[in-house]
Amino acid sequence: LSFSSCNLPQKLLQNIEAAGYEMPMPVQMQAIPAALIGKSLLVSADTGSGKTASFLVPIISHCANFRLQHFSKQKNPLAMVLTPTRELCMQVEEQAKLLGKGLPFKTALVVGGDAMAGQLHRIQQGVELIVGTPGRLIDLLTKHDIELDDVMTLVLDEVDCMLQKGFRDQVMQIFRALSRPQILMYSATIPQEVEKMASSMMKDIVVVSI
Ligand code: AMP
Repeated sequence: LSFSSCNLPQKLLQNIEAAGYEMPMPVQMQAIPAALIGKSLLVSADTGSGKTASFLVPIISHCANFRLQHFSKQKNPLAMVLTPTRELCMQVEEQAKLLGKGLPFKTALVVGGDAMAGQLHRIQQGVELIVGTPGRLIDLLTKHDIELDDVMTLVLDEVDCMLQKGFRDQVMQIFRALSRPQILMYSATIPQEVEKMASSMMKDIVVVSI
């Protein structure tokens, strides 16, 4: 499998090449084609495996296609990535900006430490992807009316770590605010709590391990 055989938007392929990604990494070879056709995944992959691009590539592709097909002034978020820390969110957003350059793909970072007003304003101006930590995101969603009906994909990155940090209820609350999204769940290890959470969110789970 190569990136160019995945039927991705031309501009995305150029960005992948410009990033220096020549061949898909193993987790990408398995996750990208499955995610592109809308499957929900439980992926056991560690940092350094290329997991971030394995969810960003299908998300960016979907967002670009969606905006081409649905003209609307109001650009509601189309995807959401939850991670356990502000730093990880920043890394994900950075890679998203790199791969989404020149495409209809704006991102908003929703983490603690920055003023919520600016984050809210950015979302209201229209973004495709929200990257955030569960606590701050719940805070934002409960205080403000954000239209989530178009969110098609929810990524839960480092789920084992999110559960360890006690984010379970917040993650579930965010999940329930969405209308049956595709779930892309990533975890270094798959302990029982992760498996339980996965089966409570997804019907047909594709398991990816590398
Ligand atoms: P991650 O596991 O998502 O933290 O990614 C680890 C590193 O691999 C990041 O610096 C990515 O930019 C890089 N990377 C992701 N996909 C590829 C690829 N297909 N080829 C080469 N490097 C990649």
